[in-house]
Amino acid sequence: MNTVITEDIRGMYEKLGISPELQDRAGKLLEELSPRFSKIDAIAEYNQMKVIHAMQKQHVSETDFIPTTGYGYNDIGRDKLEAVYADTFHCEDALVRPQILSGTHALTVALFGVLRPGDVMLSVAGKPYDTLDDVIGLHPTSGSLADFGVKYRQVDMLDGKTIDYEALKQALTDKPKVVYLQRSKGYEARHSFSVEEIGAMVSFVREHHPEAIIMVDNCYGEFTQTIEPTDVGVDLMMGSLIKNPGGGLAPIGGYIAGKKKYVEMCANRMSCPGLGKEVGPNLGTLTSFYQGFFLAPTVVAGAIKGAIFAARLYEDYNFDVVPSSKEERYDLIQSVIFHNPEGVCAFCRGVQAAAAVDSYVTPEPWDMPGYDAPVIMAAGAFVQGSSIELSADGPMKPPYVAYFQGGITWYHAKLGVLKSMQEVLDCGIKSGK
Ligand SMILES: *Cc1c(COP(=O)(O)O)cnc(C)c1O
Repeated sequence: MNTVITEDIRGMYEKLGISPELQDRAGKLLEELSPRFSKIDAIAEYNQMKVIHAMQKQHVSETDFIPTTGYGYNDIGRDKLEAVYADTFHCEDALVRPQILSGTHALTVALFGVLRPGDVMLSVAGKPYDTLDDVIGLHPTSGSLADFGVKYRQVDMLDGKTIDYEALKQALTDKPKVVYLQRSKGYEARHSFSVEEIGAMVSFVREHHPEAIIMVDNCYGEFTQTIEPTDVGVDLMMGSLIKNPGGGLAPIGGYIAGKKKYVEMCANRMSCPGLGKEVGPNLGTLTSFYQGFFLAPTVVAGAIKGAIFAARLYEDYNFDVVPSSKEERYDLIQSVIFHNPEGVCAFCRGVQAAAAVDSYVTPEPWDMPGYDAPVIMAAGAFVQGSSIELSADGPMKPPYVAYFQGGITWYHAKLGVLKSMQEVLDCGIKSGK
């Protein structure tokens, strides 16, 4: 697949600042990765057919893209899109809305949708994604779940790899209302869960506490496999449209999918009790939502190839990477551990320089609200903050890790990886091992 690199292509890469030596080295590694990439293409092909099948079944038509405003009553295109999501994810119902502002917001709507004062939320794989600290109320926060009297418990993972089933069994005796799992490792030092592993967790929980509502944070996970958490009995899953399922086209949005009765509870929280799913205009977002969902399987495949290529190239230059180029992928995030701040900065400068938008700006570390160390970010994106687009970031603290994700096309992801490596090499940065 990557075998035909013509002199024209080489010349173009050189124009973009990639040395012939780096091109040669990368070319050899890509030959090696070719069988792996074929498997990713097969997953994308299956998922592409799955999405098309769902769209055909729902009779998606041109008139479904018509913008609505105001209350958004009788928004047929919006309702049909939600049916397309539910069909694709093999579940009963879904909410897919521009009024859901981010991944964190989707998770928040879902948690507040089903939890009531006095209930317990149990996280089964350690602490959830950082932005949920305030939502749960790990520190006193006005309007948090804790503020509303919802209790939080957590089962830590065994050596970052497996769920601690002994501790989980114990924690289930408390009859938590919600059992919560994050599919992607996010920025934690653990592995990401395959849908099969999630299925095993679901069976275990059902055996010991059949009434639990099992919820999965599916951010970055969609379309990385041919099945999703809802295929293995999860009650609700949530995600962001400026990650995988928006296919790079959605300008905003989030989704919640799963059992009808729980989606309804979430709809009552998203809008109001009594109005539920009936309100919420699409404001002209539907063309991008439909088309983005249609493109998402191949976009995700390109981003996964980029992550694997990054792992392989940095391994070849003796850097520490997580996951390794050999490991299976259940999300899009690749980390390179530099053990020094200069490496993280050079990496991010390279990724920024590969962007189609804002390639000429130089990212610098800054004190972002909510983080305990300055963070550097490379984000030359069409949609602000979109991390399905080529992006990278890293906190300025040991062990100095650069996180890399996205790329709407494989070729752009490839350029991003090469530009980062070139910058790291040009700055004389060593692996620090
Ligand atoms: C991105 C992400 C979130 C939060 O999504 P935002 O859109 O940044 O609010 C939550 N969980 C995981 C695993 C994520 O990757």
